[in-house]
This record gives sequence, structure tokens and C-alpha cells, in this order.
Amino acid sequence: ASGAVVVGAGMAGVQTAVALREQGWTGRIRLLGAEPHAPYDRPPLSKAVLLGKAEGSAFEVDFASLGVEVELGVEATGLRAGAHRLETSRGPVDYDVLVVATGAEPVRLPGAEDVPGVHLLRTLDDAQRLRPLLVEQREIVAVGAGWIGAELATAAREAGCSVTVVEAADRPLAGALPAEVAAHMAGWYAEAGARLLTGVRVAALEPGAVVLADGTRLAADATVVGIGARPATGWLAGSGVSLAPDGSVAADERLRTSLPDVYAVGDCASFPSGRYGERLLVHHWDNALQGPRAVAANIVGIDGEEGVYDPVPYFWSEQFGRFVQYAGHHSAADELVWRGDPAGAAWTVCWLRGDVLVALLAVGRPRDLAQGRKLIERGAVVDRGRVADAGVPLKAA
Ligand code: FAD
Repeated sequence: ASGAVVVGAGMAGVQTAVALREQGWTGRIRLLGAEPHAPYDRPPLSKAVLLGKAEGSAFEVDFASLGVEVELGVEATGLRAGAHRLETSRGPVDYDVLVVATGAEPVRLPGAEDVPGVHLLRTLDDAQRLRPLLVEQREIVAVGAGWIGAELATAAREAGCSVTVVEAADRPLAGALPAEVAAHMAGWYAEAGARLLTGVRVAALEPGAVVLADGTRLAADATVVGIGARPATGWLAGSGVSLAPDGSVAADERLRTSLPDVYAVGDCASFPSGRYGERLLVHHWDNALQGPRAVAANIVGIDGEEGVYDPVPYFWSEQFGRFVQYAGHHSAADELVWRGDPAGAAWTVCWLRGDVLVALLAVGRPRDLAQGRKLIERGAVVDRGRVADAGVPLKAA
């Protein structure tokens, strides 16, 4: 028998292999990854690894004792589902069950691919190329003030670099947070000694410089482009697998794809959220931890609720000395309630839909996050006055 084949040896792929064994899969498990490195965790790349506080971030998983065959430097190039066969850079690989966990790849600035001094921050190789530039306290320009841009700026300032972040929108994190929340985060850049230029378009990246649309030239020993990531699903073209408009594999509520015996999980896959009534594509670590458990349950044939994937999304970011955490999913129509003073060191914002807490963002208030996340999971009704009082715990009404 061909067994289970997992493509992509990042968090989601590794967790899928582990969960399959934990849940009783006795067949063969092959874990294929395009990168040459032992499977590793990504969040430290923009934090400890970038600062040289950690050499690497390899997962502490004993693949051999789990009977997981890890095959590195192998890229999946196509899928022939009718034949239950994966095409790879090392030849065909047959499967009984296939799990697609190829993650995401960073969006590039057109024309910037081969410009010397232009970097991305997605892989261990990327982080290792950037690290010496931080050590040498070079002049760094980040394009994009999203999560990656903020974490990179944090690390580069900590290393003593001069840092400029250019952002096309009028505020940081414009894609993730409403203006009235993100406005308070803009000040964090200046406080850390980083320059944030918003409402600014990049016209060209050149060796040693970033040229803005108004003609300004910013000197840059390294330019780091952090303008988002897209599902790494190009290799599935022509396979017949259904993709969503955002390029993600359109999985169902059990993370099954439109092809028989093919599942998808992690940054490459979207799923219909019963909880939020819309299809979600989540590019965060917790999703690559929780999703695989559902995939494994479905593969080993546990037909219960375990196999239905309907998470409350969660993520964290460490920026400018602050621990930022978000749980849930909000929309523009939800009511925003402040909990604490956003000018202060620690505060939370909550989103209510009617009397129900649907999401919260906690800055330096991990207890709010922990309590709020449980309320969101339960769909609990809350008291608005109590939510707004940072002095009392978040509790159901
Ligand atoms: P990936 O980690 O992208 O792994 C996919 C793997 O598949 C890759 O190794 C890739 O090389 C491989 N692959 C791709 N195509 C193929 C192919 N055709 N054949 C074979 N292999 C292939 N999230 C948080 O919640 N908090 C954080 O603080 C945080 N920090 C982050 C910092 C950085 C610098 C980055 C890049 C991400 C961060 N994230 C964070 C997001 C989190 O790391 C991702 O959500 C998570 O890594 C997703 O895991 P994945 O396995 O789905 O995808």
C-alpha cells in the first residue's frame, strides 16, 4: 500500500504526520518538503532567529520513532488524482491519501526579483541572509507595515539599525484592523526609533535604494518586502482541484478537497466557517496546529465532531516590546468596545455582534485574551459595560 503522503513539511505538514500517528494511522506516512532544511517553525524567523538569539527553530519531533519518512528537497510539481499519483521533482509518488500542506509564499513586488539587496522574510534561508545585515547595523527599509514589517522593524531596531517602513495605506495593519485601532499602533514605530511613512507608494527598488512615487530616494542596504502572502498552490494547476478566488485550495468543513482522498490544511487552504458563516483563509500558526487534528480524524475515519473544523482563529505578534494577540473574527459591522486606554502600555479592544463577543485584540493583556477566547468559543452573551471596564475580568453576562 502507498499510505499517506503529506506535501509540505512546515507546521501544518508536520502536525498532520504527528496527528495521524496519534490517532492510530498504522500505514506508511511520507512527509515531502521542498526546502533542504529539517522541518522548522516560522514565527521565530522574524524574532529570535533574526536576532541571532536562536540558531534555528527546527521542530523537536522524532520522526524516525514515529515512523514518518521525511523526504527533503522534494518539490511537488503536479497531481494526477485519477491515478492517485503526485508528480515531484524526484519522480512520481503514489498515495492512498494525500494531504496538501504547501503553505504560502510571499507576494513579490513586480520587477524586484533579481535586484541585489532586496529580501523577503518567509524562510530560514531568508532569515539567515538578513541576520548579518542586522549585526552590521545596516540601513534597512521595509516595504509594508503589516505583521512581518512590524516584527522586522522591531528586530532591526533592537539590533541598532536605522529603519524606515514604507506603507501604501494610511496606517499600519490596514488589511487586518480598523483605522481607529491601527492609529494607536502607528505611534509604536516612532517610539522604537523607526520611521514610518504611510500613504506612500514605491516606484522602484534599486540596488541600495528604494525610490518612492514622489521621487524620494531612500538609501537601503537591505530592502525587505513584506506585503502579504498567497497560498502556494500554483503546482495544482490542471489537477482539477477546486481553488477559491484567493488561490487557496477550497476545502470543505472536514478539510477535504474536491478530489477524492485529497485533503488540504494550513496556509494553503480555506474552509467554510460554520461559526462565522463565511469561507476563511487563515495565515496563522494556530490554524496550522489545529487543522491537522481534524484532517487526521477524517483520514482515520473518526466520523464525529472531531473531524469538523470550525475554529476560533487565534494569533499573536511580538512588536515593539508588546505582546499583541487576537482571537475570533470580526467584520466592519461589528461594534467596537475599548477596554483600557490605547495610549497606555496595555489595552484591549473587543468586537460585539449584538450582545455576543465575536473577537478581541489584546495588547499586553494575555488574561483578557484567554478569558475572551473562551467566551468567543461559547458564543457567550456579555455585558457591554463590564466589557468596557478593564478593571474587571471578562465574563459572560
Ligand atoms: P508553511 O509554514 O509555509 O510550510 C509549507 C511548506 O511547504 C514550506 O516549507 C514550503 O517550502 C513547502 N512547499 C511549498 N510548495 C511545495 C511543493 N510544491 N512541494 C513540496 N513542498 C512545498 N503566525 C502567528 O500566529 N504568529 C506569529 O508570530 C507568526 N510569525 C511569523 C513570522 C514569519 C517570518 C512568518 C513567515 C510567518 C509567521 N506566522 C506567524 C505565520 C505562520 O508561521 C504560518 O501560518 C505557518 O507557518 C503556516 O504553516 P503551513 O505549514 O501551512 O505553511
